[in-house]
Amino acid sequence: MRKYADILCCPFCRSGLKEVESGYICKTHGLFKKDAAGRIIFVEEETLDKNVSSHNSGINWLKSFFKKSPKLYYLLWHIFCPVMMTVNGPRMIFKYRDKHGVLVDIGSGPGRVSEEFINVDIFPFSGVDIVADGKELPFCSNSADIIVSEAVLEHVPNPQKISQEIMRILKPGGYAYVSVPFIQPYHASPYDYNRWTISGLKCLFPDLEIVKSGVRSGPWSALLMFLAYWFGVIFSFGSQKMAPFLAHVFMLVLGPFKYLDYFFMKMPGAEAVATQLYILGRKK
Ligand SMILES: [Zn+2]
Repeated sequence: MRKYADILCCPFCRSGLKEVESGYICKTHGLFKKDAAGRIIFVEEETLDKNVSSHNSGINWLKSFFKKSPKLYYLLWHIFCPVMMTVNGPRMIFKYRDKHGVLVDIGSGPGRVSEEFINVDIFPFSGVDIVADGKELPFCSNSADIIVSEAVLEHVPNPQKISQEIMRILKPGGYAYVSVPFIQPYHASPYDYNRWTISGLKCLFPDLEIVKSGVRSGPWSALLMFLAYWFGVIFSFGSQKMAPFLAHVFMLVLGPFKYLDYFFMKMPGAEAVATQLYILGRKK
C-alpha cells in the first residue's frame, strides 16, 4: 500500500491531513474516505455520482464497459482508435526521474504509465489511486517531482485552473509532460471543450521552461479520426445519438491506417496538421 501522508493535503483548505485506517482527516473538512478498492476519495459524493452517471450514458457507456478491463480496453484502443499514440508519450519523461521521486498522473484514466505513478482521476476507474478534481488537487505545494497529463485538458471547462494546480504541486526543477489534441473531432468523454496549438499550450504553462515539444500523434491520425466522425455524422441521417456509435464502427476499418504516421509525423511541418501535440518542460 502506498504511503501518501507527507505529500497529501486537504484540497479545500490545503492544511495537512492525518492518516487513519479509513482514510485521511482534515481538521476542518473531516474525513476523506477510502473506498472498497482502496482509492482515496477527495470529491463530494454528489459530484462522484454525477460523474459516474455521465460515464454511463451514450458512447461513454460502451467505453466505460471496456475500461473495466484496462488491458482489453487498451489493446482494442491501440488497434482500432485512429489516433496513433505510440511515439513521444509520457514515458519520455523517465529520463528526468529520480527513483525516490513523487510521480503523479493527472487524469490517468484506467491505465498506468509505470508502477511508480500515483494515478489521479475524477472518475473512479480501476487503477486510480486518488479520486480528485484537477482544479483542487489534494497534494501539498511543491510536492511532485514529475507530473504527466495526457489528453485531459480538453475535457475540462477551465484548463487554466488545472494548469495552475499542476504548477503549484510541481517542485521547482521538476518536470511536466502535457499532451492535448489540436485537430480532432468533438469527443465527449464525458465533455469536450478545447483544442490547442503548441504556442497555445506553452501559454497555458508559462512557468515551464520548455525542454521539448512536438507531435504526439500525426497527420494521418488527424485525417482518419476526422473521417470516422465525418462518416458517422453523414450516415446517421440526422440522429445525433447514432453518430458517435457509427463513428466508432468506421474506426474499426480506418483505425489501423494510423500506423502510416510512423513515417509522416516526423515530416517538417507535421505540427500544422497533427491530431495531438505535446510539451515537456522544467518548472522555473
Ligand atoms: Zn480542509
